[in-house]
Amino acid sequence: MSTRLIRPLRELSRIIFPTLCCHCGEPLVGDEQELCTSCLVQLPWTHNAPIPENEVELRLAGRVPCQSAAALLYFRQGNVAQTIVHQIKYYGNLRLAKQYGQLLANELLASGRFGDIDLLVPVPLHPRRKLQRGYNQSQLLCEAMSAVMHLPVVTGNLYRRRYTDSQTHKNRLARMDNMKEVFAIHRPKQFENKHILLVDDIITTGATTENCYHVLRTIPNLRISIASLAVTAI
Ligand SMILES: [Zn+2]
Repeated sequence: MSTRLIRPLRELSRIIFPTLCCHCGEPLVGDEQELCTSCLVQLPWTHNAPIPENEVELRLAGRVPCQSAAALLYFRQGNVAQTIVHQIKYYGNLRLAKQYGQLLANELLASGRFGDIDLLVPVPLHPRRKLQRGYNQSQLLCEAMSAVMHLPVVTGNLYRRRYTDSQTHKNRLARMDNMKEVFAIHRPKQFENKHILLVDDIITTGATTENCYHVLRTIPNLRISIASLAVTAI
């Protein structure tokens, strides 16, 4: 069917079955997909990939020695970035994962600070949680980034070996002990002499990244960089 016909038909079907912006709920028009134009212009970009000692690196400073770190968006309660993270994390929104994974990858490449990465490694979910959801949101992002960066995605080597219990009633030391055991490595040799990009959907305190680092640090000549779709704004 020619595009001259597809456009009016799509518009007509949108009038009958309106597709709504996943953030504000207004009907989408024209070429809008998932998010309307007025929500898109509110996107809180960090543009921090080219900046050494940016807020992501400072948040991890002294805890995760990484080569470079960056996030695409600032996450605030109720903002558009929160909707994008939740759409990917809880609803498996593949279109948003692809779009924002590719945007993140382009930002990293354009920065010149993420040029010598060998492997993309998503922060793993526990297999039980992955089974419940049917996907790992960080892996969805990695797959989109892989198409732009032309790098392999390694899943299953770094793995989460148990559910994270509720941390609320534990004191700080017990909490750290509890978290240290969460991740493990199947084949350390696969990461030897490599520069990996550890990818997460959101960085809040940096505790998850730190706990991944606790197992990765034992691998000889491994360099780590970190990228996330969003970082919580302070
Ligand atoms: Zn909207």
